[in-house]
Amino acid sequence: MIHSSWIEINKTALRKNIRYLQKRLGSGVKFASVIKGNAYGHGIKEFIPLAEENGIDFFAVFDTNEALRAQAVKRDTSQLLIMGMIDDEELAWVIENEISFFVFDLDRLLKAVALARKQQKKAKIHLELETGLNRTGIEEADLDEVLAIIRENADFLELEGVCTHLAGAESITNYMRIQEQMRVFERLSGILKKNQFFPKYRHIACSAAALIYPQSIMDMARIGIAQYGFWPSMETKMNNLLSDENKFTLDPLHRILSWKSRIMSIKKVPAGKFVSYGNSFRTTKETRIATIPIGYFHGYRRSLGNMGQVLIRGSKANVIGAVSMNVFQVNVTHIPGVQKGDEVVIIGTQGKNSISVASFTELSKQINYEFLTRLPESIPRIVKESKPENNGV
Ligand SMILES: *Cc1c(COP(=O)(O)O)cnc(C)c1O
Repeated sequence: MIHSSWIEINKTALRKNIRYLQKRLGSGVKFASVIKGNAYGHGIKEFIPLAEENGIDFFAVFDTNEALRAQAVKRDTSQLLIMGMIDDEELAWVIENEISFFVFDLDRLLKAVALARKQQKKAKIHLELETGLNRTGIEEADLDEVLAIIRENADFLELEGVCTHLAGAESITNYMRIQEQMRVFERLSGILKKNQFFPKYRHIACSAAALIYPQSIMDMARIGIAQYGFWPSMETKMNNLLSDENKFTLDPLHRILSWKSRIMSIKKVPAGKFVSYGNSFRTTKETRIATIPIGYFHGYRRSLGNMGQVLIRGSKANVIGAVSMNVFQVNVTHIPGVQKGDEVVIIGTQGKNSISVASFTELSKQINYEFLTRLPESIPRIVKESKPENNGV
C-alpha cells in the first residue's frame, strides 16, 4: 500500500441499503442514485459499478466534470442526469452524449434548443420549477413562455422530467415550507398537464423527503445520503424507526464506508512531557504513544486534537495533542501487545467497538454530508464484501 490510509466500501451493506430503499420507493419508481461530491466521498468510479450490480441504472451528478467521470465507468444502459452546472461550451457535449439535464432558466433552454437543432438531436431536459427553495428554478411567470418554446421545438427537445428541490425535508422546522413547496409543485405541474405535456418523470424527493413524506415520491426519487447508509438527520431516523412498519426492528440502513490506516511508529514518553506541537497535552505518567500517518491534509480535522478516538486491537485510543498536517498521535498505554503496523480504524468497526461519522460531526460541527464529501479523492477506495455494520446519523 503506497498510501498512508485507505477507504473500504462494503458491497454487502450497499446491496441491503438499495434493496431497502427501493422497497420504500415502491417497485414502479425510478431510483436516481445521486453521486455528486465524488459519490459523497465514496468514489464515483468505485461506486457506480457496485450500484449497477444492484439494479441501479440512473445516476444524478452536479456538473459536467462529474458526468465525464461517470461516463467513463458506467454501463451503456445507465443514464446520467446533470442537476447543476454546465458551461455553455460543454452543453453540446452533454446533448451529443444523450445526458439529461436540469433546465432552470430561459437562457439554458434557448441554448439547448439551438445546439440540439445544430446536431439534429433531441436534448433530454428536466424542467426545474421554482417552488420555494429560491436557488434555481423556472418562475411561474415564465412558465407559459417556456412551454411555448418547448412546444415549438418539439423536434429538438424531449421533456423527460419536471422537478423541484425541497428546502430541507430532513428537519421538522421546515415542515410548513416543505408542505407549501409540494402544493406549489402540484399546481405548476398541473399547468403542464393542462397543456398536454406528460413528462416521464415527475420528481421532487431527496432521501429525507422519500423517507418522511411518501406523497413526495411520484415517478422518481433522487436518493443520495441514504443509499450510503446514513440518515439525513436524527429526526429522519427517529421518524422512521418509530413508524409502524419499522417498529422494534434494527436500523435498516448500513454504512458502507470505513477508513483505515496503520500505526507508523510507537514510542514511550516519560511523565511530565508535552506531546506534539505546543502545550495542549502533557503526560502525567509514562505513556505509550502511537503515531498515525493521517493529518488535516487527509481530512482529519485539527479540531479533533485531544478529542478524537480511533480503534486499535479492538480498543478505543484517544487522540492526544494537536493534529498535524500528516500525522496525529494516540495514547495506547492501555492496549497490550500494540505494535507498529497494527491496523487503525478511523471510521468503522473493529472487534466490538465502532467509530461513527456522527462522532466526528458532533466534534467538528459538520453535517455528515460535509464530512463525507471532504474525504480527499487521493485516498484509495477499496471494495470489500463483508458483514454490514449499523450506524448512527
Ligand atoms: C444532493 C441532491 C439530492 C440528494 O439529496 P440527499 O439528501 O442526499 O438524498 C437530491 N436532489 C438534488 C437537486 C440534490 O442536489
